[in-house]
This record gives sequence, structure tokens and C-alpha cells, in this order.
Amino acid sequence: KTPVPSDIDIAMAQKPKHILTLCKELGLTADEYDLYGTTKAKIGLNVLDRLQHRQDGRYVVVTGITPTPLGEGKSTTTIGLVQALGAHLNKSAFACVRQPSQGPTFGIKGGAAGGGYSQVIPMDEFNLHMTGDLHAVTAANNLLAAAIDARMFHEATQTNKALFNRLCPAKKGSGRRFAPVMLKRLEKLGIDTTKQPDDLTDDEIARFARLDIDPSTITWQRVTDTNDRFLRKVTIGENPTEKGQTRTTGFDITVASEVMAVLALATDLQDMRQRLGAMVVASSKQGEPVTADDIGIGGALTVLMKDSIKPNLMQTLEGTPVLVHAGPFANIAHGNSSILADKVALKLTGTDNGGNNEPGYCVTEAGFGADMGMEKFFNIKCRTSKLVPDCVVLVATIRALKMHGGGPNVVAGKPLPDAYTEENLDYLEKGCSNLIRHVENAHKFGLPVVVAINRFTSDTQAELDLVRKLAIGAGANDAVICEHWSYGGLGAVNLGKAVIKACDSPKDGKNDFHYLYPLENTSIVDKITTICKEIYRADGIELSEEAQRKVDTYTRQGYANLPICMAKTQYSFSHDATLKGAPTGFTVPIKDMRLSAGARFIYPITETIQTMPGLPTRPCFFDVDLDDQGQVVGLF
Ligand code: ADP
Repeated sequence: KTPVPSDIDIAMAQKPKHILTLCKELGLTADEYDLYGTTKAKIGLNVLDRLQHRQDGRYVVVTGITPTPLGEGKSTTTIGLVQALGAHLNKSAFACVRQPSQGPTFGIKGGAAGGGYSQVIPMDEFNLHMTGDLHAVTAANNLLAAAIDARMFHEATQTNKALFNRLCPAKKGSGRRFAPVMLKRLEKLGIDTTKQPDDLTDDEIARFARLDIDPSTITWQRVTDTNDRFLRKVTIGENPTEKGQTRTTGFDITVASEVMAVLALATDLQDMRQRLGAMVVASSKQGEPVTADDIGIGGALTVLMKDSIKPNLMQTLEGTPVLVHAGPFANIAHGNSSILADKVALKLTGTDNGGNNEPGYCVTEAGFGADMGMEKFFNIKCRTSKLVPDCVVLVATIRALKMHGGGPNVVAGKPLPDAYTEENLDYLEKGCSNLIRHVENAHKFGLPVVVAINRFTSDTQAELDLVRKLAIGAGANDAVICEHWSYGGLGAVNLGKAVIKACDSPKDGKNDFHYLYPLENTSIVDKITTICKEIYRADGIELSEEAQRKVDTYTRQGYANLPICMAKTQYSFSHDATLKGAPTGFTVPIKDMRLSAGARFIYPITETIQTMPGLPTRPCFFDVDLDDQGQVVGLF
């Protein structure tokens, strides 16, 4: 066998077709796309109006077993599968994937364009600036951060009247008036919105002008898309011009911003506007939530994000379409690409009323293991979009399953232990407990499951047969050995066929999509308990005093009907990353809880989640450079 070249060498050897060609192949009209150079385009949301009459294509979610440091290949399999469907099985097929953060690309993990002969190209553009969406998220997030501190500064140094007069200045010719965003605040405060600024009483002026933010409650941080550990905790306001108003705060990586989660969950521009305005940044000294719209900034944030809301079109190595859009964190957020990209893909792969064409496939990827990414895909993303998935593809590798069965730990920079490169049915059989539990969990949502065994060259036939047998024994519709990393779409044709079959399976009692918990008339604690017991198989949960306080606050503030977004380790079903396989007999500690009121979920926290990664001694960037021809080398 010839060895497979490096990801970047494969990506660079393939010349992508002009993105205009792809736009035309997809039947997009000239007013439905904006070209960003020759390899990327943004698709306008007006395409959804034109294709409104179409019935959606099939909706497939790719997820994985519990991740290990050995890598499972979810992105690679997502791309391999659409290459199989689109380039070898004559179906229309889109992959919908997240845009990676630039932090890990230069840090430890590397990029996320897939791998081997199943990749999105051009890989350097995919992993770096792309069309600037991450930069827009950064800009919006930081504009709001600046606005919070500036507002506190001005409130500290001015009387109510002076503040109010500056917020509603007299304009030449038109007199004083409220900016449209201020009407939302008047309404929230129960002040008659037909009043003009001059009509407000002193008490109304005080309540309107003074947000009275309690600095100790500010949850909004600044962001940058670089792994910069020294920004984790900073003191701001040190210059004398800020009159001693210093404050300790910190930076997160851009993809941890709530703005990113909003981008991923918005269903149209208006919905994005509502969500951005509803983001809660702090509490007032009276304990009321302070939102972006209270600060007057929801409209400006939407303007910064108005182009980013359009999904980005790129292509696979085999020239089939990929939508790359949004990349929220998978623990403090829901870790899925955007609803709008999926909607566009489902319409472009959809069928017309006459029913004279076959449905195509929208294959979307959910981050982390299925206990996190898939559960959030169903309970948060699908619930928001009201889209109904048809099938789950669960990716597993022999080596990762061996680690779940007790295989030795791996040390970065050291050769892999023999257990992973030679046959070991013992570890493998034990580790399949992890796979089996994920299959059972997918069934709890009423969907068929196809297991994709992502083959590594060292896997033996006996090992592959064993996993197939156990997966099918657990009720998977099929378990398919895939070689798309080595052979591109051709290596995933059998996976494609199995997915087509699973999507066509009748929607009977077992196969009938539903959520795990209702939103209404169920307490925050009950929802968390359901996820922990049903999906993680915990005995129960244990709430800290702080978490209980948050439950009470969010319930009082009217947020108890939101879905839950668990912030937990991805390395175990439990909250303890060292418990591999299918652990039982544990209680999940809920240490704290946060609210993403704009993204619309509550996230319980089981451990300290690092929202700003650091750089290791030997980051990936050492290898990244341009060669003599100006081509990028060293990305992976
Ligand atoms: P995930 O999406 O689960 O994080 P990726 O698809 O990004 O995983 O793959 C992680 C890495 O593993 C990539 O560098 C990819 O090239 C590599 N990889 C994936 N599948 C295989 C395989 N079958 N053989 C060898 N390397 C693989």
C-alpha cells in the first residue's frame, strides 16, 4: 500500500474548482451568492424564500463515541460520507461543519478540515480567516465589552439628569427623542413608551438612565481568537483617565463568546437581532438582569454580524459542496454548526412538490462525543430549528475503543503502545461498552443509528468483525467499515448506502424522533437530572449552594423554560475524565450554573472549564510557513 501523504500535501495537490462553478451547479441564482475570492462564497438567506415550497432533503447527524487523545475522525467521516453520496452514489449531498478556531490551529490540536482523502479545501483558508465570521464575532463581542465598562464609568461620574440628557440629547430641528432601542428599555421598566424624553418624571429618569450594574456580577468577557493564556485574568482601567475605576476581568477565545452561539442558533436576521439584544451581561445592584439592549447595543451588534449570518460555501476534495458556518464551544455552548447552514442545505437537497426528484442529504456534524454534541443537537439545535433528523451516524475507531476498554494511556511525542497497533480483542471487546451505550442513547431519541468504523491501517479483520457484531447486537441498523481517509469517497460508499437505507426506514414507534425532556412545566433541576440519568447513566446530581442560588435566580427571572447545555468533560460519560468505557455508580456535581439568555440555554458547570487555551512549549505554528511558491506548508 502506498502511504497516505500529509493532510496539507493532499489538500494542496488538488486544485479546487472555481466556487462560481459550484454555485451554478447548485442552481443558485446570481443574487443568492457573494463571492469571496475564487474558493469561497456566502449564500444569501433569500435562497430559503425561493425554495420555500421544497420538501427538505434527508437530515443526518454525525457524532462519535467518547473522544480519546487518539482521535476518532468525526470531521473526516462527515466529509468522506458526503463525498461518497455526492461523487459516487449520484445523490445531492452537503456537509455542514463548524468553522474552526484559529487558536487550536496554531496551538496543539491543529485544524479541523477532515483528513487524508476526505477534506474541505483549500484547507488553509478553511482553517484561517475564511470570510471573516470569527473576526466579526470578535468585533461584536468586544464592542459590547467596551460598552459595559464605558457605561459604568459614565454612570459613576454623572448625576441621573446629566446622564439622561446625554443619552437623549436635544437634536437640532427634531428635539429630544428616544433611539428605537431605548423603547425596549422603557417597556421593560413599565414606562409608557409613547412618552417623549421631556415627559419622564424624575423617578423614571433615574430608573431609565442608571443601569446600576453590579461589577461583581459581570459575566461578559473580552475575546480574541488566539491561545493567549496571559489574558485569562487581567486588570483593566489602569490609565489615570479612567479615574481609578479598575476592574479584574479576562479574555476568552472567540468561539466561547455567546455571540458565536447566537450565530449558530439564529433562525433568521430578526431572530438574531432579538437574541443579540437579549444577551444578559450582568445583574443590576437590585438583582435584575442587564441585557445588551439595556446598554443600547443590540442593533449595532446585529449590523456587525449581518454578513456573518450567511453560510459559507466551500468544497470537498472531490468537488462536492460544504457549508462551513459558526463554531461554538461544545461545553459552555452546544458545539454544533449553524441552523441556517443546515436549513439552506436541506432546501438545496430537497424535493419539489411534484415529487419527481429524489431527496438529497444534509450531513451535519455535532462536536465532542454523542453524550454531549448529539444530545445538544437534538434538545437545543433541533428544538430551536424545528428540523427533524432522519439518522445518526456514530463514528468509532478500534484504537479509541481499546482505550475505553482499559488500554494504556498515550504520551504525546512517544510511539503508540503496541495495544493500539497490534490486534487486541480483549481491550476492544471491553471498550465496546462505550459504543453500545451511545447507540442506546441515540435510540432514546427515536432515530436509526449507523455505526461508522473509521479504519486505521493497523486494524485487523478480527477486530473490525468484533465491533460490527457488537454494534449490530446493540441495535444499530448497520455498522460499516469505512476507508475514506485512505481512499476518499470511494472508501465510504458502503457507509453512504447504509445511511440511505436508514433514512428510508419507516417512521414506526422505534423510529420516531422526539426530545428527551419538555421545556415547559419541568424545573431546571429536573431537566439536568434527566440528562444525567438517561444519557450519562448517573445515579443523580448534587447541586452546590451556588448552583442552587442560580437555579432560584434564573427561575425568578423567568428563564426556567430554557433548554440545558451541560458543560462537562468530553472524555467520559461521567464528570470525571478518567472514567472510560461505560461508567456507572457516580453522581454528577453541579458546581455552578450560567445563563446564555441570547443563545437561550442554561449551562450547568460540572468542573472548571478552560475558556482560554494556552500554547504548549512546541505549538503547531513552528511548522507553518510559506514555501518558495508561496504555498502554505505545515498546517494539519
Ligand atoms: P474529530 O472530528 O473526531 O476531532 P478528525 O476528523 O478531525 O477528528 O480527525 C482527527 C485526525 O485524525 C486528523 O488529522 C485526521 O487526518 C486523522 N485521521 C482520521 N481518520 C483517520 C484514519 N482512518 N487513519 C489515519 N488518520 C486518521
